[in-house]
Amino acid sequence: MDFEKIRSDFPILSQKIRGRDLVYLDNGATTQKPQVVIDTIADYYAEYNSNIHRGVHHLSQVATQAYEDARTTIQNFIGASHNHEIIFTSGTTAGINLVASTWGRKNISEGDEVLISAMEHHSNIVPWQMLCEEKNATLKVIPMNEQGELIMSEYEKLLTSKTKLIAVNHISNSLGTINPVEEIISKAHANGSVVLIDGAQAVSHMPLNMVDLDADFYVFSAHKLFGPTGAGILYGKEELMNNMPPYQGGGDMIKTVTFEKTTYNDLPHKLEAGTPNIVGGIAMAKGIEYIQSIGFEAIAQRENELKDEATNMLLSIPGVKIYGEATEKTSVISFLVKDLHPYDVGTILDQLGIAIRTGHHCTQPVMDFFEIPGTIRASFSFYNDQSDIDALQKGLLKAISMLS
Ligand code: PMP
Repeated sequence: MDFEKIRSDFPILSQKIRGRDLVYLDNGATTQKPQVVIDTIADYYAEYNSNIHRGVHHLSQVATQAYEDARTTIQNFIGASHNHEIIFTSGTTAGINLVASTWGRKNISEGDEVLISAMEHHSNIVPWQMLCEEKNATLKVIPMNEQGELIMSEYEKLLTSKTKLIAVNHISNSLGTINPVEEIISKAHANGSVVLIDGAQAVSHMPLNMVDLDADFYVFSAHKLFGPTGAGILYGKEELMNNMPPYQGGGDMIKTVTFEKTTYNDLPHKLEAGTPNIVGGIAMAKGIEYIQSIGFEAIAQRENELKDEATNMLLSIPGVKIYGEATEKTSVISFLVKDLHPYDVGTILDQLGIAIRTGHHCTQPVMDFFEIPGTIRASFSFYNDQSDIDALQKGLLKAISMLS
């Protein structure tokens, strides 16, 4: 696989920042977009911008077809049984809030328990906290160890007849841990509990198959998958979603409306009120087709090499401590350098054109667990290369000499 050529598919990466080559190591926050995705967005507005599902005219039909084809591309990408199990949302956060507000409000009652993990993103904590508060239910947390791995024996102990839902991430955005979601799901199902997987960090790194995984709900964002912001997916099992009330009321989600009574549309439209992010869905599918053309085998090999090289480089720098040392880990590396504040290091790296992330990464409980204010996070994608690792090394050595 010619990764040099692949890198050139991403126009933003050939940019100079303050006169230096951009070194983009913030892929956990959002990935860059290949030219085909950028062109898809421009083509939509230049050639067939139109509202979908209701127009008889040509442009509306072209846009509707493209949007519904995108749904099928996404269905096949994640190995879902049915096209109508793919609900377009505005992103991971929206998908989790949808499930909390609909399935959650219907199925969680006083005394029930919702189980999350110690390494959740705030968007997979707060909606459940809000639901539990509203319903007088209890939020429980699967603990993790010092390596940043979930303690599965504790998970099993937490599963009781009160546990209605388990909501965990597939990959931690601050530690890089790949969680054993297959085991989590099978144990949850044996207990009669429903499972939501936050796949925000997983979809760009590994192939998925919803039928094999057997997740009840799986959510992700397009922008971490080489697509645009403001688009995402909620996958849900047909039966569960048929039994859920609608989320928002409005156009598209209805069958008939009178002032006395409204009847609701079938899936997926029941859960998609109003004009959606049409181009977002279409461009998301284009980003998926782009990575399918590279293939996850090549992507995984490349990212594992980058992760190993970067980890070794970081550990060769005296005073660097890595947070998140799970055996199963993706190319997200959180670290600190001596007692230097992550923000100061990040600011110096930025002066050198290096984009990394600093702070709590929307996982404050993870920082509390390690008793640190935040970390420096370098997250790699397949378009990164050795020159990015070299630049990070040079930048860190410079930051250390300036700040020590
Ligand atoms: N969960 C995880 C694990 C994430 O990494 C993120 C994004 N950082 C989110 C949820 C939220 O995604 P979004 O902001 O796209 O809704």
